[in-house]
Formats: sequence, structure tokens, C-alpha cells
Amino acid sequence: MHLISRYAQLDPRLFSKQRPTVLKGAKAGHFNQPLADQLQWTADEQAAWVDICSGQHLFEATEPLAMVYAGHQFGHWAGQLGDGRGLLLAQVLDRQGQVIDLHLKGAGKTPYSRMGDGRAVLRSVIREYLAGHALTALGVPSSQSVGFTSSAQGVQREVLEPGAMLLRTADCHIRFGHFEWINQYAPELLKDFVQQCITWHYPDCLDAEQPVVAFAHAVIKKTAIMIAKWQLVGFAHGVMNTDNLNITGSTLDFGPFGFLERFKPNWINNHSDHQGRYTYQNQPSVAHWNLWVWLNNLIPLAADDQQDELKTALQAALATFEPIFLQTYQDGLAHKMGLPTFHHDSLACGTAFLSILQKEKLDYTQSFIRLQTKAYQALRDDCIDLEAFDAFMTNYHQIRSNQNIDELQTLMCQHNPRYILRNHMAQAAIEAAERDDFTEVDRLFHLLATPYTQQVEREKATDLTPPALGDAEIAISCSS
Ligand code: AMP
Ligand code: MG
Repeated sequence: MHLISRYAQLDPRLFSKQRPTVLKGAKAGHFNQPLADQLQWTADEQAAWVDICSGQHLFEATEPLAMVYAGHQFGHWAGQLGDGRGLLLAQVLDRQGQVIDLHLKGAGKTPYSRMGDGRAVLRSVIREYLAGHALTALGVPSSQSVGFTSSAQGVQREVLEPGAMLLRTADCHIRFGHFEWINQYAPELLKDFVQQCITWHYPDCLDAEQPVVAFAHAVIKKTAIMIAKWQLVGFAHGVMNTDNLNITGSTLDFGPFGFLERFKPNWINNHSDHQGRYTYQNQPSVAHWNLWVWLNNLIPLAADDQQDELKTALQAALATFEPIFLQTYQDGLAHKMGLPTFHHDSLACGTAFLSILQKEKLDYTQSFIRLQTKAYQALRDDCIDLEAFDAFMTNYHQIRSNQNIDELQTLMCQHNPRYILRNHMAQAAIEAAERDDFTEVDRLFHLLATPYTQQVEREKATDLTPPALGDAEIAISCSS
């Protein structure tokens, strides 16, 4: 493995060096071999993965550290936060020459742990492990994990739960909240920090006339595309606080996330989100708000008499969020529907389909698969308002007439997953894992690796269907 420790070269006020607290009695959970290969782990490193993923074996030349940041949580300024239970171990060069962060989660207390114990529980570690893997395979930019370990060492939450540790990877762990911390507590660091962010993550912006404005445009664009992709696969993050969004638009910090099953745009997947701030349908506007908070932290980069000018340029940058989001979402929806992106009625037809799913309480993923496989009768049989369904179908066929159906069909197959990580699937894997049986994690790992391909031998009927109407939902909260 080719290791670098570039974050440790920043101003020491931005982190605290900290060694992991070993997870006692650690045992193998699951190992993501393809990702380890991608990160160019040697055979010896791969053989030692359990020790590496439990903090017992540290790579030579790494300087583990906890990052400090701040943030707005549920819309309110939360002051200083930081890695309270995770450590940035180092960066590693992957096979494509990309620099990837290695971050050990559940690695013990840090100076930023506040009241927390620095630990993670097996339940949340499995959910993060599978979700990062699933999103990546779905084509949504996301952190992933090389592996996780579990332990007999208990961790107290509402009840005593098995502890666990996860070694995750991401292209960046710099959050919007980093800029908020700097502006609040050490504004003199802003200029160099931004310069470093641009150099590391957006080097092309260095050549722009105004690198900071170009940087803002690039972050806004990546965020808009990530959110559009979340919406298209039905992913609800659940805790879109400004400390949980990074500057490269890749999904980070999975807590009470959920994949939509029956289409309910105002579904509150996070049971700690009493106001419904982070529902699926609110994600685009919350991302926009988070970006606005973030952009405000760039304004002090301009001299006093030039701040108005910078503000105007950043406002113009933020105004690009909506068109980029809409374009990505509309094109993606057209692909899912098997409709041409250029047809003026495609969007209306797509939203008509979504309205039917919502009114009839139909499963989002399964319904698109039915459309793709032309199982129109099965869709119709599940509807009560047949008039609305038939009107939709007539319009749908009309738009598709005289189009290149083969081409549209190929796009449908590429954009409609058969498998997503339903809460009950994760829950079954967790319950087995808590009995030391990781076969279900392994099954889901392989199933979700190619979500667009039917895997007859591997799939279970329950992978394809939502819980029955009226069944109690699995409660997922922030506690993890
Ligand atoms: P989250 O919203 O889960 O990303 O976490 C918000 C903040 O709480 C971050 O600063 C975390 O590091 C911190 N945190 C969450 N759980 C714990 C824990 N068990 N121990 C210490 N810090 C924690
Ligand atoms: Mg977080």
C-alpha cells in the first residue's frame, strides 16, 4: 500500500493526534476484498485485516488523527464538533492513482468525543458497511469500507450492544463544518486551508481567474449531482447536518439512512428527526441550505472592500445548484421510465407515475422494475384508481411510440436496480451477526455488488418486496 499522511501537514490546530483504542476480543465481521485490491493492499496486509480493522495493527508511517470541525445540526449552530469516535489514519494511493482517505470508525475517545464513548455498535457498523457498498455499486458517489470487526466487548446504548469497528474509505473527509469551525475559532487559517482544499481536491480550479469562485462552483455541482442520484435510487440520508456533507459530493456518515420502499416522499426515516427536516423530499432544499451556510464561510477570503463582489459571485454559483440538480434528476428519471430525455412530455409522465406510486402506496424500486420488464398488468392489479393508471399508460405508450425502444430499454436496465438495501434486509443481517453468523452480511454484500443484475440463486423473495402495509416499521434513530 502506498501511504501518505497529508492532513497531518496542516496547521496542528485542525486536528489532534490520537492512537486508536483497541477493540478487545475483535473477530472478523466482513472484508471487502475487491476494495482492498483497489487500494493495493499487499497479501500480508490482507492477511492482517482483522488486526487492521480493530486498531491493533497500525500501518507504519501513519499518524492517526481526529479532525476538528463544527456544524449546523438540524438547522441550529452546534459549535465545535469533530471526530468523536473516528480517526483519519492516512491517505492511500489506489490503483487509478487517486488519493483515498482511510478512516477507522469506533476507534475510541478523542478530544472531541464530548459525552460520547468513542465507540460504534455492530448494528450501525453493518448498516454503514452495506449502505456504502450498495450506493457505490448503484453509481452514487459514496464512502465505502474495507472491512469491519465485531467484538464481545459491549457498548451501552438504549441496551447493551456488541461493539464493532469499521475501516472506511472516502475521497475526502473535509466537511462543510470544517470551514465553519475555522471561521468561528481560527479565521486566520482560512486562506491556507481553502488553498489546500483546492490543491488536493480541485486542482483544475487553480488555473481559473478566481480559484475560490471556481471551487465553489465545483463543490455545488458535485453536491447537486450526488443529491439527484440519491433521489433517483430512493436514498434518504437521514442526518444532513453540515458536518455530514463533504466538499467532494460523496456520501458520508451513514446513520439512520433508509432506502425508500413504498413511495412516500415525506417519509421520516430517522426517528430522531421529530420535525421531518431530513425527509427524502427535503434533501435537495436542505443541500441547498447547507451549501449556502458553507459559502458564507468563504466570504472572509476577500478583502473588506471586495466582499460584496465575492458575495455576488458566490450567489451566482449557488444559483446553479437547482438547474444542475433538475437536469440530472430529470435525465435520470427519463432513463428509469424508458422515456426520451428530449421529449417535452417525459417529465410530466415520470411525475404522473410517481404520483400513482404515492397514492397507491406502491414500492418505488419494484414498480420501476415492473415498468422495465413490461409487467404492466402486475402494476395495474395493485392499483385502486384504475382510471388514473390507464390514463398514465396511454400517455406512456404514446410518448414511446416511434422512439428507439431498444436504446430506451438498455437505459432502463442501467438505471433501475433490482436490489436496494431495504431496512428489513439489513436488520436480518444484523440479527444473525449478533449471533456471530455473518453469512447474511456476505450474501447481501454479493447481492448488492451488482444491483442491476438479477441473481436468481442469491436473491430471496423478501429482497424484492416492501413489508406488508400496516406492518410496524423498523425504528432507526440517531443512536449508533
Ligand atoms: P453523526 O451525526 O453521527 O455523524 O455524529 C455527530 C457528532 O457526534 C460527530 O462529531 C461524532 O464524532 C460524534 N459522535 C457520535 N457518536 C459518538 C460516540 N459514540 N462517541 C463519541 N462521539 C460520537
Ligand atoms: Mg458525522
